[in-house]
Amino acid sequence: MNAPTTSVTSSEDLLHQPVQFLKGVGPKRAELLRRCGIVTIWDAVNYFPFRHEDRRALTLVRDVQDGAFVTICGVIDSIDERPTRRFRSIVQVGLKDRTGTLYGTWFNQPWMGERFRRGQKALFTGKAQLRPYPCISHPTVELLPDDFTPDEYEGTLTPIYRLTEELSGRVMRQTIHSALEVALPLLEEYLPEKVQQQYNLMPLPRAYRVIHAYECTAIDLTPEQLQQARRRLVLDEFFVIAMGLLLKRLRTEQMPYTVRHRPPGQLVRALLKQLPFELTSAQKRVLHEIKNDLLAPVPMNRLLQGDVGSGKTIVAVLAALMAIEGGYQVALMVPTEVLAVQHYQTITQLTKELPVAVRLLTGSTRRKERAEIVGEISSGKPMLVIGTHALIQKEVRFPRLGLAIIDEQHKFGVMQRNRLRDQAEQPDVLVMTATPIPRSLALTVYGDLSVSRIDELPSGRKPIKTYVVRPDRLPRVWEFVRKQVHAGHQAYVVYPLIDESDTLPLKPAVAMYEHLRREVFPDLRVGLVHGRMPAEERDRTMSAFKQGVINVLIATAVIEVGIDVPNATVMVVEDAHRFGLAQLHQLRGRVGRGGATAYCILVDNSPDDEAGQKEGDTVQPRQPELLESTRSSRLAVMAETNDGFRIAEEDLKLRGPGEFFGLEQTGLPSLRIADLVRDEEELRLARHIAETLLAHRDKLKPETRERIRERLRRTFGATIRGVDAG
Ligand code: ADP
Ligand code: MG
Repeated sequence: MNAPTTSVTSSEDLLHQPVQFLKGVGPKRAELLRRCGIVTIWDAVNYFPFRHEDRRALTLVRDVQDGAFVTICGVIDSIDERPTRRFRSIVQVGLKDRTGTLYGTWFNQPWMGERFRRGQKALFTGKAQLRPYPCISHPTVELLPDDFTPDEYEGTLTPIYRLTEELSGRVMRQTIHSALEVALPLLEEYLPEKVQQQYNLMPLPRAYRVIHAYECTAIDLTPEQLQQARRRLVLDEFFVIAMGLLLKRLRTEQMPYTVRHRPPGQLVRALLKQLPFELTSAQKRVLHEIKNDLLAPVPMNRLLQGDVGSGKTIVAVLAALMAIEGGYQVALMVPTEVLAVQHYQTITQLTKELPVAVRLLTGSTRRKERAEIVGEISSGKPMLVIGTHALIQKEVRFPRLGLAIIDEQHKFGVMQRNRLRDQAEQPDVLVMTATPIPRSLALTVYGDLSVSRIDELPSGRKPIKTYVVRPDRLPRVWEFVRKQVHAGHQAYVVYPLIDESDTLPLKPAVAMYEHLRREVFPDLRVGLVHGRMPAEERDRTMSAFKQGVINVLIATAVIEVGIDVPNATVMVVEDAHRFGLAQLHQLRGRVGRGGATAYCILVDNSPDDEAGQKEGDTVQPRQPELLESTRSSRLAVMAETNDGFRIAEEDLKLRGPGEFFGLEQTGLPSLRIADLVRDEEELRLARHIAETLLAHRDKLKPETRERIRERLRRTFGATIRGVDAG
């Protein structure tokens, strides 16, 4: 190893230098930048504006037209703050030029006044209004140095960044520009020229310059150029993810795979014969796909998607029996203990006439029993082990793992999925999810998997009648619940929180349990489950509910996935506005599993909208404001459709992928500019380009390969291997 001769040895190191490395960035500014998620130079150049503002010309106050989008340059000459009848506070800041004064107004942001001082020069940009006086509500503000004169104003399409309170747009732009000065020579184009031409792609370095308006002339900075720049950067982001996933798949395919399954035999036939129902044709088709994968001489890596209640469990059990019959071990991993227990009960029941060993291993398995099961597993005996994360603890080794099944995959993520794979020699992997993942997201997150879909519900299922109600209807809701119970059915009542919260005005499950049990349903048997109670107590309650001993089950979202009690016909969700749509759909899927008509009642306890709130030039946390302002339309979708895919698409649009899915959870980089809903076309193109390049990797120039490798390393760190694999 040679010792580095300078502190900066490669472009990699330089891009990963902290922003303090840049001139003009001291500790204080670095801290403010850190609050925006900018730590390194690489972060800074990839901190993209969320929009551009047209400031190509300044307008004099005298010439402002009602409704026009304008930029005014002037001097702050008044700062007022007062409450009004409609708003908690209104801040008015007068900006005076030589022809008049225009006011910037802010509603319910009393701190805005403190950003200004009189005599200070500033630009206000936004949509102007002339009545009752010239003003812009929530303008974008740029504070100017005192020696600024309007003649030196070079208006452009100005990038607008999300900021923290003490960081101005100007400083953010300056910082990003100094970062670009250092970084641009390293942000090389890595796509071969032919590809760039074929798809009409702006070169990457230019895309960075244009999007940040760095060293650009008016000709560079047209809306069309901006759009091209954004497209190139979106493509870059998707390309890296697509290539990363493809390489991962390639690596898996190159790992030794020695599992040899046998075609389905006696066990599978026996189970099919004793099922009280016939498999739906979708189940049969999917099972066929899985069987083919199992018998193929390459490892299976398949995602099984099926809406709630579509019958994934039985498919998984049949696949497991195939593997067991061939002498292999099968692990079925689920995200929660409740679900593990339930699967265990269902599956032991299903297989009780068959000669198969089924075991349950979770965090609360007693030590002695645990030791026994772990011993049994390490003996290599063919068996099905159902469990939680406990299955991927170090001391659990499966010497004959032939099939790993992961249920409700989105709760785990790519990394954990891999850990189960690394257990022994590589097993076949089947991941199952009930979250109807929109196509674009599936491509990104599961780009390395083949997909099977159960797109049909068992016959006889009726759509669940869904109502969105305001809390004043609760007495009627409870009456309805009582009626259903008297008719022999059961109900769930779900709350978003376990205990009272200081900051969130929500009903907590524990307190509501007491209330409902004593005051509302003294005549019924009411139970409580939540994620923090001892596992034993929870299991006891769950099985009492399953057996019909409990009529009404109060719960948190722990029951979101997988719980199967066909006799339950009512799902009440309080504070429903706090849940994502996809999650509500999951919750709703807990009912309607038997023959009777089922109901889902969503109680929308959200406060009334406050008018006048608008996104300004400050960091806006996605939660919870955004959720609340869009809530009514959000919940309405639930009443309109039972189609999980439509609901998921809607949810993704409203909340963005981060919240929908928790991209961090998936082990993939979070998206900085691309939008999974809007940019689906670029996602496909990126994937296509990645596939093509990989297929022709032998023909790529060495420097192209090196650049692509470098680009991937920048995002994934050193873990990514294999650009030159093969
Ligand atoms: P999910 O896909 O949500 O995991 P489950 O596997 O829990 O769904 O199945 C939901 C319910 O439907 C279970 O009670 C199961 O026994 C039943 N079921 C599964 N397949 C069929 C079928 N082909 N016909 C009738 N009922 C079925
Ligand atoms: Mg399930």
